[in-house]
This record gives sequence, structure tokens and C-alpha cells, in this order.
Amino acid sequence: MNRHNRTITFALMGLHLATGAMAGELTSRMELSLDRVRRGGPPVYSDDFVLADAVPQHLRRFTEFSGDVSGRYLSALATVAQFSGQAIPELDRVAAKLVPLQKADGHFGDAFSTGAVANSDMALLWGNGRLLIGLLEYHRLKPKPEVLACARRLGDCFVKLGPRFNDPAIIEKFSGDQVAVGYICWTQIIEGLVELNRTTQDEKYLRLAEQIAANTHRYPKEHSHGFVSALRGVLDLYRATQDGQWLRKVETEWEGIISSGNLLPQGALPEVFKPMIANDEGCAEADWLRLNLGLWAETRNPRYLDNAELTLFNEFFFNQFHTGDFGHHILTDDGIGVWSARAWWCCTLHGLRAFPQVFQAAFHSEPARLCYDLPVDGQGAAPGLTVRADSSLAEDASVALLVTKADGVEHALSIRQPVWASALKITINGKALEGVAQVGAVEVRRRWQSGDKLTVRYVMRTRLLPHPQDANRVAVLRGPWFLGVNAQNAPTFFDEPLEKNLVLLPASSSAGDLPLKPAADVRAQPVRFTAPAAHLTLPYLPGGYPVQPQTVVLRPIAEQTAIADATRWVLWFQPKRDNPGVTN
Ligand SMILES: [Zn+2]
Repeated sequence: MNRHNRTITFALMGLHLATGAMAGELTSRMELSLDRVRRGGPPVYSDDFVLADAVPQHLRRFTEFSGDVSGRYLSALATVAQFSGQAIPELDRVAAKLVPLQKADGHFGDAFSTGAVANSDMALLWGNGRLLIGLLEYHRLKPKPEVLACARRLGDCFVKLGPRFNDPAIIEKFSGDQVAVGYICWTQIIEGLVELNRTTQDEKYLRLAEQIAANTHRYPKEHSHGFVSALRGVLDLYRATQDGQWLRKVETEWEGIISSGNLLPQGALPEVFKPMIANDEGCAEADWLRLNLGLWAETRNPRYLDNAELTLFNEFFFNQFHTGDFGHHILTDDGIGVWSARAWWCCTLHGLRAFPQVFQAAFHSEPARLCYDLPVDGQGAAPGLTVRADSSLAEDASVALLVTKADGVEHALSIRQPVWASALKITINGKALEGVAQVGAVEVRRRWQSGDKLTVRYVMRTRLLPHPQDANRVAVLRGPWFLGVNAQNAPTFFDEPLEKNLVLLPASSSAGDLPLKPAADVRAQPVRFTAPAAHLTLPYLPGGYPVQPQTVVLRPIAEQTAIADATRWVLWFQPKRDNPGVTN
């Protein structure tokens, strides 16, 4: 989609975007995935294709996970429609066709087994759990009695199944290496149950959610998307009950994911926990991002915002294909391998579902100030002050903040200074401005006028990151971006023997900054989904011909969206030791 089409699309979006079109990377990326779901393919998300798992009609992959695609489709499109205000008529059509497909006991799909619990029962639970939250997110957008009644019947079905699946023997049996049909198929239902309680005020859904939450544990070889979906549910349970044990549980499990080494340095949560780490999964990345944003909102502990930002700018963007799909990429010792899969059956929809929450996390308000947190597009409002952000961080390391409403009284606008920026340079209406530096933020206090425009330039740091296990390898970060070299943009870097390439790093400054030179961008037109503000020149000695030193451009891994599927990346580099000569 070109810029012209994007403008037309946003002209239709209405609501808060009516004050002007946001035009940064996050906006383009959400539009890319939304367009994929609504008009892209193959496969095309036609009504019948989406609803096949609810019938069920086994005419495509994974229809035994009954409700999985249909539920996620409702969830993603309803949430985007709610956020943007745009009309998505196919949503009403699919919801109307879905309700009559419900079975007498309240579930969708083939019958549950009557004997010992089988893998097929777990698949049914998974899909129906996704469908419950999908129905309720659609109901939040367009309340309809028949949709709510349908969600209630499904919730009642889960309440009836409770004793069967809360059984300790079933927990044990399905906490092995079943992955997609593991116990997570049951625990991911918490999210829908809490939302059903919020909508109906019926306590029985909350009681079941509490029982399942008590049985939610991390174990080796667990499906991370399922587990983190369950944690998002437990966080919702905390919001609903204000019972601190649930927040403590989520924070403890969050710490467990980090300390067990299951979060990779580029902000990727692998599809399956150790020792089965093999590839990423768009769903898991979206869940981890949403969980961190949720924990940040509840606690204001910056560790959650920092992690959300790491995953957003790196693994989450990396995971998005040029088609707008999300999916899988193979993980290798030094980076990313030459296999990928566009997971239209889950990740494409679950990835799209994450975007509205990211936009909403760009700002937050406190009683005494409006805070701009993530350097992305978004809109923030506090009493007397509304500000819109347009991010061009990828192009020029800047964000434009436009005051769209002001009441003429003095207000404070606090702009977060992330650890990856050594300073923020702020101008207001073209004039340099001194803000008050605080710990981790710069605060600007004044009588704002509608139309005031702030430009924030992030002075980006370049940092070296040691490999968590291999003392011989390092990675390079520039600003929020994790950098690498890919085989499409730099094929000769992959000349044999690649593993003997030695990079020539300058000495880091006392502040820990690595003085690599910015790479000159020679293109007249910026390429979509590239971040030239982070391009750096890296000198190296090729493994096969070190007598001819070369240079390569380091690029954000997020640029995978701009290049071909299944492109190989190197993220971890071996520096030449005792490197005497290279200065920049
Ligand atoms: Zn997925």
C-alpha cells in the first residue's frame, strides 16, 4: 500500500484519528496486517473459511481446534474496529453466521470424548477458549443479546467441564511435551471467563477462573503462547478481583520466564520453552508484548515497559511478514535460519490483535502530568490536554508531538528518556526548549495552545551486548533496535566460511557507547519498514579472505518485513581480539 492509499484508508477511520492521520511505522504496520486479513491471501479469510472450525468442516488445517480461527478473527477485527472507529461489515456477518452453529451443550465443533481425556479434547478446549474471548470482544464493540447468550452458553459449558479438567491427574498428564494440545488449552480460557464475569456479573465464571489460575504453572517444553495467554488471563483476574495474590503470581511467573533464559535477547519468546527452543511464534511475541504492557499499566514498574519496547521494536516487528502475516522463523546459534511459515491459522490474527493495545500504551496520564512513554504513534489525553504523536523514529530518530486540545491552564508533559537514548533534544514550534530532566524522563510544563508542536529527537546510543552463553560473541543495539546482517542486503557477508568472519570493533567509550559510524543512505526514497536512523557500518575480516577487509551495513532485524521470507540473518558476531587498528 502506498502513502496515497494509506491517507485514503485513514480518512475512513474517523473517531480520534479525525484530528489528523497518524503516519508512523506502527500505523503502517497495523494497516498492513489489517489489509492482509480483510483483503489479502492466500488463503483468503472468506466467511466459510473462517467458520469451518466452528461447524466443523474439516476442509483446512487445524479445524479440530474448533473456534480457533473464528474466535481470533472476531477478536482481532472487533478490537481494531473499536480502536479505529472504522466499519468492518464482515465482522457482523461472520458473528451472525456463527451463533447458530453452537451445539446443544454450548460448545462448538466435534463432540468431546466420553472416556479418558484425549488430545482431541484439549484441541477442542483451545479453540473454544479463543472463541469465548472473541465473542465477548465482539460483544464489547456491538452489544447483541444473541451474542451474549451464546457466550454464556459456552461459559456454562466450561463450568460443567471444570471438574473434569481441574483434576490433578489431567494436569499431570498434559504437562509434558504435548505443546499445542497441552494443559495450556485449559488455562488459556481464564481470559474469556473473566471477561464473561465482567459482562454478566455472574460470579460462577470468576470462581472457575480462580480455580484454573491456581493450576497455571510454567513447565519445560510448554507452549509459550498458551502459557502467556493464561498469564494475561490471571492479570485480568487481578483487575477484576483486586486480589493481590494474582498480581504476585503473574509477576513471579514473568521473573521465571526471564531467569530461565526463555526470553531471547532480541525480545523473542520461542514457541516452546527450553529444552525445545527451535523457532519463534508470532502469537507468543504478541502475548509477551501485551502481558508486559498490561503489567506496566498495573504496576508502573519500568522493567515491563522496557521489555515491551524491546519486543515491539525487535522480535514483534521482525516477525511480521511483508504480506502482513505473522508466523514462525527458525532460530539458529548465530541468528535466524532459512525457514519460515506464515501462520494464517493463528499468528496473523493474533499479531493484528496486539496493535490497538500498543497504540494505547504510547501515553499514560497521571494526576499531575501526561506521560509519553513509547516512541510510537498514539494519542494521549489528561484533563485539559490532548496530544497526538507521529513517530518518525526509524527515519530520523524523532517524534512529533502535536497538541490537539488545550484548556489554556498550565500542564506538564513528561517524555520518557529510555536507556537507549543519551539525551532528548526538544524543540517547540521550531525553538529549542529546555525541559526539566528527571530520572528517566524530561518534563515540559507550560500553558499549552492547541496547535503547539514539539519535536523530540532521541540521541541514540550504540551498545554492545554479550551473548548470554557464548563469551566469544556479541550483538549490537542502536537505539531500541537489535541489529544484524541479512543475506538479502549483504550476500557477500555470507561467503564461506561465514563462521570465521571476524568483526573489527572500535573501543567502547567510558559510558559504554560503541562509536560505529552511521551508514550513509544513498536511496532517494525511503523504503517502507526500514530504519535508516539505525544503520551502522561494521568493518570485518571475511573468514575466507581476511587479506581483503570489508564493511557491511548493520540493520535492525525489524527490517525483515521489508525483505523476502526465510532470509538468513546473523545477529551474533565474533569480534577480532586485540584489534589494534580500527578506529572510527
Ligand atoms: Zn501462532
